[in-house]
Amino acid sequence: MSKRPSQLDDIVKYIIDISNGKSTLTEENISEEKDEQCQYILTSLLFMNQELEFSARLRQENLALSIKNKTLIEKSKEAEQFVYLASHDLKSPLLNVKSLLELVENDEENNLSNDSATFIKQGILSATRMAQLIDNLLDYAKLDILANIQLIDPIELIKQVAADLSGEILESNVIIDVSDNLPKINGDNVKIGALFQNIISNAIKYSKEGKSTIKITARQDGSNDVFCVEDNGIGIAKNDIHRLFDFFVRTGSSNKYQGSGIGLAHCKKIMQIHGGSIWVESEEGKYSKFLLSFPKPPMDK
Ligand code: ADP
Repeated sequence: MSKRPSQLDDIVKYIIDISNGKSTLTEENISEEKDEQCQYILTSLLFMNQELEFSARLRQENLALSIKNKTLIEKSKEAEQFVYLASHDLKSPLLNVKSLLELVENDEENNLSNDSATFIKQGILSATRMAQLIDNLLDYAKLDILANIQLIDPIELIKQVAADLSGEILESNVIIDVSDNLPKINGDNVKIGALFQNIISNAIKYSKEGKSTIKITARQDGSNDVFCVEDNGIGIAKNDIHRLFDFFVRTGSSNKYQGSGIGLAHCKKIMQIHGGSIWVESEEGKYSKFLLSFPKPPMDK
C-alpha cells in the first residue's frame, strides 16, 4: 500500500474507536482527507458505523419493549389473581349469609311477622344478585385469556346465537335480518359468540312493543371489517352514550328491564383483546347501531 503511515494510523484508530462504540469519524473528517482511496475507506467506515449504531439502538429498543411486555404480562397476571382472590373471599361469606337466611326462611317453627319474612326474602335476593355480580367480575377477569384463535364464520355463529335466544326472539316478536355477505373474523370463537350474544340480546331486550327488526351488516374500512348490529328499539339518550361501555352503567329507562350493566363492558374488553373497537350511534326513541371494528384476518389484508 502506498499510504503514509499516519493515514493508516488514522484508519486503524477509527476502526478501534468504532469497535469500542466510540467513533469520532465524521463527514467533515472525510472531506478533509485528500487521498481518494483513503476517503473511500473512511466513507465505508462511517457507513458501517451508522449501521452498527442503528442496530444497537434497535436491539436496545427491543430489549426495553420485551421488558415492558414482561412487566405488563406479570401485572395483568397479578391483577387477575387479585380479582380471583378478592372475588372468592367476597363470595364465601356472602353465600354463607344467603344459606343462613334460607335456613331462617325455611324454618317452619319460626314465627316471623310478614314484614320480617319479606325482609328475609329480599336479603336472599340481594345476596343472590351480589353473587351473580361477583361471578360477572370473575368472567371479566378471565376475558384476558384468548383461548382458541380461529377463522370464524359470523353467519354460522349468529345462527347459533339466534338459536340460543329463540325464546326471547319469539316472545318479543323480533326479526333478525343477517346480511349474507359478512366477512370472516379472526378470533376466539367463544368470546366472539358472547360478544354477539350480548349485543343481539340487548337489541331484543330494548326493542319497542310491536314488530322490531335487528339488521346485521358489515362494511370494509381500510384494513378493518366493521360489523353493524342495528335495531329500531328504544334508543339511547345522547348524554349517556359516552359512558355506555363502563362497568355497571344502566341508562335511561333500562330499570324497567332486567340486567346488570356489565354486558357492554365485557363487549368492549372482548373487542380490545382482539385488537378492535366498539362504539354506538343512536337516536333516543328511534334506533341504536352497535359498530364492531375488527382487524381483517391476516390473509385478507
Ligand atoms: P344490561 O343490559 O344488563 O343493563 P349492558 O351493559 O348490556 O347491561 O347495557 C348497558 C346499558 O346500555 C343498558 O342498561 C341499556 O340502558 C343500554 N343499552 C344497551 N343496548 C341497548 C340497545 N340496543 N338499545 C337501547 N339501550 C341499550
